[in-house]
Amino acid sequence: MEPDFEDLRSDAFAASGYYPNRSPCPVGCKFCYERSLPEFYPKLKVARVRPRTPEQFDFYTSKLDEYRASAIPISPVVLEPTGMVTYTSNSDFFAQGLTLDQLDRIVEANTKTGTSPYVSTMGKGFDFATAKFLQEKHPDAFRVRLSLLTYNDEIKRTLIPKWEDSSDMRKITSILRDANIYLLHFNVEQTLADLRVVDELANPDSKPRVGVAVVHHTRKHSPQVQKYGNDGLADFEALIRHLMSGAEAFENINEITFQHPAEGFTFRFRNFLRETLAPYHLGESDLVLCSKGAFTVMRDLVVRNGATVRPVSDGLGGSTTFTTTLCTDDFVRDLGEILAEPRDVPFRRVLVPAPVWWVSNQTCLNGGTIDDLRNTFPTVEIVPVDVPLDILESRLTVREAYDYYNVDLAKTRDLPHDVVAQCLAPNESLTETGFVRRLSDDGVSYDELLV
Ligand code: SF4
Repeated sequence: MEPDFEDLRSDAFAASGYYPNRSPCPVGCKFCYERSLPEFYPKLKVARVRPRTPEQFDFYTSKLDEYRASAIPISPVVLEPTGMVTYTSNSDFFAQGLTLDQLDRIVEANTKTGTSPYVSTMGKGFDFATAKFLQEKHPDAFRVRLSLLTYNDEIKRTLIPKWEDSSDMRKITSILRDANIYLLHFNVEQTLADLRVVDELANPDSKPRVGVAVVHHTRKHSPQVQKYGNDGLADFEALIRHLMSGAEAFENINEITFQHPAEGFTFRFRNFLRETLAPYHLGESDLVLCSKGAFTVMRDLVVRNGATVRPVSDGLGGSTTFTTTLCTDDFVRDLGEILAEPRDVPFRRVLVPAPVWWVSNQTCLNGGTIDDLRNTFPTVEIVPVDVPLDILESRLTVREAYDYYNVDLAKTRDLPHDVVAQCLAPNESLTETGFVRRLSDDGVSYDELLV
């Protein structure tokens, strides 16, 4: 009999101490991207990882001591020798088909190694009894990233198949320690209502952090998911302004952070990005390509000295504007059009964000490489610029999101230095790059101008 390829893969992962998540994820959230990824990226295949046999599970746990690693199932994304990308779903921890005893053994391994990795769940299959048992038995090791989405069951039933009600979620909210709770922003009223519930129920001795995201969609998502996404995008700024106004205090929430707006992240890291680009001494023959989300801030505040910045769009046809959804084909398409435009000074260098080619540190999600891009455009030098994962995975605080909504990018860019100079104190001066340099008894400090 032919060996089963997926079984061989499972054994290989187990031998390395990895326990790959079930894939495709059995939860089947309506807003999830993973099932339709192969339609967007033809060289990507979603791995079919079945529940493990008890023997495979035992083999995995026997390796835990040996590796002394954080024991959480993982979602490997790998480049195959065939050039195809195999994508394993970022599946729910409690949808892996593990028994309570097996869950206990995984968390027990973390207790032994003194680690407390977060396990992610939408709450499907995660009931109050399981939460209570694991949290009480492993108070320092059991940490949950609870994607609550909302306590509004009417909305939640439209997003998670066979969702019953949130009564267990409410009880779970009150017992978790240092929980990371994720909400989806459908509209201001709903998000504030959900924040009030978290605040009311939260464990005051170990307050949760709350992350808020909008529902992003592709053209493959249902009209309802697209509507949720568009409604949330429309009044996200109003949410930030309300929270910043101090009209409401959420005393039992440790911190509220945001995965939106995408432009706010580029704004927050603008100085880092300026520093990153400084060694390239950009000029008129340079072209900087970036995601749509990064474009305006890169163009108006980061890139100077005559270099051109242009956005590259992904092929998902929805609301995504991120570096991580771009692939080589998108650069080939958009760069081809840009280079065909007439110009007095031809482009010689093209800077591209290196994280696009993150799979096995070699390819994009569709198996394309930077060399594919170089071979397509031999007349220009393609330069990948690294953007650390910390930046791509960071979250905005209320203040950081608020700052972005309040900045006037064009006015900041055009601010004449002599106008600003009139507002400075005698111990302050303006640097060429737009910082206020302040001399005091404590030394020199720098502040950036915001308009
Ligand atoms: S739990 Fe996560 S991976 Fe699974 S379907 Fe929902 S969003 Fe997708």
